[in-house]
Formats: sequence, C-alpha cells, structure tokens
Amino acid sequence: MAGRNFLFVPGPTNVPDRILRAMDRAMEDHRSSAFPALATALLRDLKQVFKTTTGQAFIFPATGTGGWEAALVNTLSPGDRVLAPRYGQFSHLWIDLAQRHGLRVDIIDVEWGEGAPVERIEEILTADTTHEVKGVLIVHNETATGVTSDIAAVRRALDGARHPALLYVDGVSSIAAIDFQMDEWQVDLAVTGSQKGLMLPAGLGLVCASPKALAAREHAKCPRVFFDFGDMIKANATGYFPYTPSIPLLYGLRESLAMLFEEGLDQVFARHHRLADGVRAAVRAWGLKLCARAPKWHSDTVSAILVPEGCNAADVIDVAFRRYNLALGAGLGRLAGKLYRIGHLGDLNELMLLGAIAGAEMAMRDVGLKITPGAGVAAAAEHYRSSATPLPPRAAAAPTPDAAQQPAGSKPGPQAARAAVRA
Ligand SMILES: *Cc1c(COP(=O)(O)O)cnc(C)c1O
Repeated sequence: MAGRNFLFVPGPTNVPDRILRAMDRAMEDHRSSAFPALATALLRDLKQVFKTTTGQAFIFPATGTGGWEAALVNTLSPGDRVLAPRYGQFSHLWIDLAQRHGLRVDIIDVEWGEGAPVERIEEILTADTTHEVKGVLIVHNETATGVTSDIAAVRRALDGARHPALLYVDGVSSIAAIDFQMDEWQVDLAVTGSQKGLMLPAGLGLVCASPKALAAREHAKCPRVFFDFGDMIKANATGYFPYTPSIPLLYGLRESLAMLFEEGLDQVFARHHRLADGVRAAVRAWGLKLCARAPKWHSDTVSAILVPEGCNAADVIDVAFRRYNLALGAGLGRLAGKLYRIGHLGDLNELMLLGAIAGAEMAMRDVGLKITPGAGVAAAAEHYRSSATPLPPRAAAAPTPDAAQQPAGSKPGPQAARAAVRA
C-alpha cells in the first residue's frame, strides 16, 4: 500500500527517524572497556524520566510484563498478601502474574472505566492493623480503558492508614508521556516498557526501585534468576550487564532520552494533554462516549471510544486497517467489540492525529454509524488551532530569487527588507 501506515495503537508507538538511525549500527562488545560509558549514562539519565534521585534504575532485556515480574519477585515472598484494584485488562494481567508467583492478591474489582479506588484502599489498609498486606499494585494509566489514576492520592491513602506496604506502580503507558513523580509520590517500584512513551521498539523492561524496595530484597523469597536485582546491581556498578544487553535498544534509548530532554519533559506532557484534548473533542462531536467515566480519569495517552449498541468495534478497526492503512487499538478482554482505542502517545503531532481521527471517522461511517462527515476532524482541528502557542515573530525571510542573483554586498531584496522591519 502506498504511503505510510498510520500506527495509532497505544504501543508500540511510532519510532522517530532519529531513533531508527541511532539503532542502525554494528554490534559491539558489551564487555569492552568503552561500554560502561554508554550503560552508566543511561542508568543515570533514565532516573530523570521516572523523576527519582534516590531510586535505582534497572534495564532488562524484556518488556513491561518482565518489569512487572522483576518488581514483584525481588521484593516479595510466595504467600505474601498484596492489594490490587482491577479496572482493566492490564491490571487484570498484573494480578494474574502475581498469583502465578504464589502471591495472595486481595482484588478490589472496580468498574472498567474508573480508576484506583483511593478511599477503599485507605479503608482496607486501615483495617489491616497487623500489616499483613505487603504491597499495593496500581496501574497508573489503564491502557485498556483509557483511564489515568491519581497516584499521589494513593500515596496519601497509604500514609493516611499509616501502612508500610510497598507501592508498586505500572507506568508502562504513562511514563515519558504523562507526569510521573516517583520520589514525590514515594513510589517503591515503578515499571515501564520501551515501546510506549519512550518511542522505541519493544524489548526493554525498565524498573526503578526505591531504597525501601531494595531493602525488601533481604527477606524476599520469590525465586528469581533472570530478573534478580542483585546480579544487575553488581554488574551495573561497573557499567556492565549480567548477560548480553540489546545494543541497538540501548543506543535507541540514548537517543530517546536526548529527544525527551531536548523538548523538555513538561512540554512533552503538555503536548500529550493538548493532543488528547483534541481527540476528546472529536469524540464529543461524533456523539460518542469514552470508556473513562469522568474527566478526572481521562487519559492523555489513549482514548477508548465506545461504539453504540449493535455495532461491533472490531469491524471499525478492520475497515480502518484494510481500507485506510490505519491501525487502531482493539477492545481488550471483556471490552472486545465494545470499543476501539486511539493511541496518542510518543512521537506525534496535530496533523498526524488529525489523520487518525479522519480515518476513524471514515471507518465508522463505512460500517454504518451515523457520524456527520468531518465532525470529529473539525472539532479536533479547531481545538488545535485555538490552543496553539502564539508564533514568535519570523526572524528573517529567505532571500528572494532577485536578491540571490545580486552580487555580494548589494542591497537585500524587498522581501528581506520587509522582514527586517517587522523583526
Ligand atoms: C503495554 C502495557 C503493559 C504490557 O507491556 P508489554 O511490554 O506488552 O509486556 C503493561 N501495562 C500497561 C499499562 C501497558 O500499557
């Protein structure tokens, strides 16, 4: 098919050309004397993305799921109790992983479309006077429903209950796209993967552990080999890894961090918020509803859009892909067929997103939904126009053809002169 594929699933996200080029290199010896310069800088700089100075960063050749596992097995023992709200497919899968490691999970089932139930968490922890609960597992941004939870409020719930449980946070679809403050929120284990906000291919499971989490290793008896923090800490201390790292992904990560720091993390978050608001304006203009039940839960990285009864959202996704080369996210688990998702995270701008909104709109009309042609595109476009930052004055105009022909030292062309006056 001619033209580019429009990749709008919430991971993997678009990999910028800069990162593709950075990864396109020959393999090298990961035990050479030159290697530690790369590894040490990455482990240091990655902490800025998690907003931690006291935490320790780990880079596993894995995915977000591996990060989940690493966080749990290094800090808990089989039979330990953990508390976990479940409000979407990712919180469900993390709970399943914990159970398969022999942890006893107290599940709080929450309506899919809502976020972490802060008051329930505080009640349960307050009642747990013997401190049986060793950890609280929270998915910051539930990618299946497009719901962002308030991690600062969860921290206040733990503190309110004066409970010492470790706070585990899945930031796979939030970190590097939505503000995440590991130190400020006293998150003990924070997890992400490479293929979402970090704009890389899948293949890295990234974890940061607080000093309290590292101390918990002393008593944690879950079996661990590949994901053992201890082996990593020992090797990382001299700039190496206990086994072969993915060299291209490490160079890709270096470029990704450089891009994030060049734009500035706050600007990255603001861009995601503004782009997401445009998608939400489109959804309203279509007369449709988000799965997220209240604005406080609206995710800035993914919108899960409910289709009306009688329509199968899988058909929208199928037509979008086969007819318009647009990849939309599917409804996961019990939401299959009920919604489709537009991922809006990573390397994105307004016009890319308007293309996705146009494609979604066309595909929805193709499957028979009554959507006013152009309604969503118009609403999003107007949002982007009206919320754009004012343009700075144009510094200098390009030389006009007649100016370019003039000998050096002669007067600039009329257009350049006009630009100089304006400046
Ligand atoms: C993508 C995702 C995961 C799973 O990550 P993998 O890299 O596919 O293992 C976990 N949690 C959330 C919130 C996600 O969005």
